[in-house]
Amino acid sequence: MFYLILFIFLSCWGSFITCCAWRLTHHYSLCIPYSFCDHCLTPLKPWQLIPLFGFIVQNSHCYFCKHVLPPTSFILEILLPLYGISLISQNYYSTFSLLQIFIILSWLLFLALQDYYTQTVSSFCLFSGYTFLLFPILNRTLTITNLIGTLSISLFLTLFVLLNMLGMGDLLLVNILSLLFNWYFVVYLIFLASCLAIIFRLMPNISTKKTFPFIPYLTLSCALLIFINTFYPLISM
Ligand SMILES: [Zn+2]
Repeated sequence: MFYLILFIFLSCWGSFITCCAWRLTHHYSLCIPYSFCDHCLTPLKPWQLIPLFGFIVQNSHCYFCKHVLPPTSFILEILLPLYGISLISQNYYSTFSLLQIFIILSWLLFLALQDYYTQTVSSFCLFSGYTFLLFPILNRTLTITNLIGTLSISLFLTLFVLLNMLGMGDLLLVNILSLLFNWYFVVYLIFLASCLAIIFRLMPNISTKKTFPFIPYLTLSCALLIFINTFYPLISM
């Protein structure tokens, strides 16, 4: 029963984050207007808003205009509950750590969606997360070793920013994650995110545009590293 409630909650949470990110990046208020099809602009019926159910019953097409629905929300409505349940069922992390992971990944997911939609992130979301997340654990992460590690990574990545190969938002986010976790977690993170980006960009039928959002890869890599660490605790976090 607990896992069923958790599944429903995380599925709704995935839907909520997708909706918030889409609305904010498209300059809509979070509440008004009521949810609508972004193609024909018809207000949605309550049953169409039910996570997973709405997408499946409509057969991935808008009920009104038959336009194909973007799969982003549906994917997150499935992945988030499965991820959360797998993590909790391992009993590896304390309740407090799980709560921290939940907040960090939700924040990253929100930024990733913003980056995915517009290739930018709002500085308000970036810095409010920074303040909110970092403040409670500052004592743990503010060690000389971690500060030197974080500074070295930041200086190294600044070169890529100056060469226009990396965005300022990516650099700031990596910097925050390095202080949140630690600098060597971020080394793994950058390596994995870069590998995923290369693999994805080499796949057929993928847009060959020169620029692409990197925060989705950082977010996915962060989730993967936390997940791997649950089963094989290699990286101290
Ligand atoms: Zn429609």
